[in-house]
Amino acid sequence: MECVFCRIAAGELPSDILYQDDEVMAFRDINPLAPTHVLIIPKRHINSLADLSDDETQIIGHMAEVANRLARQEGVAEKGYRLVVGSGEDGGQVVPHLHMHLLGGRRLSDRLC
Ligand code: 5GP
Ligand code: ZN
Repeated sequence: MECVFCRIAAGELPSDILYQDDEVMAFRDINPLAPTHVLIIPKRHINSLADLSDDETQIIGHMAEVANRLARQEGVAEKGYRLVVGSGEDGGQVVPHLHMHLLGGRRLSDRLC
């Protein structure tokens, strides 16, 4: 298994896990870009948003629900936060396993890109 996030999901690589259930896992980004920077992933390998089939899109709702809960837990929900999902090379996706970034704890750039 070469995928780094699959290895984290399997417990083969250590990570700072904040939440997990049967479907998803949330852990702190190893290179945080904001005081709160959490990654939410499906445990099952899916390459990217573009690879989600129409009957799999519920996973995004589940990931957003977990992100919202963690934002409250991290104390950033009130002031605000950002959820980012990059898909593919032009989308800035480096790790080819679907993931959602939860960023908060500072005023993020006004620019979207
Ligand atoms: P992307 O650029 O693909 O949207 O984001 C990938 C993110 O994964 C980056 O923010 C990077 O810091 C994070 N990352 C890469 N490898 C690891 C790792 O082994 N552990 C953790 N916790 N985060 C990682
Ligand atoms: Zn994977």
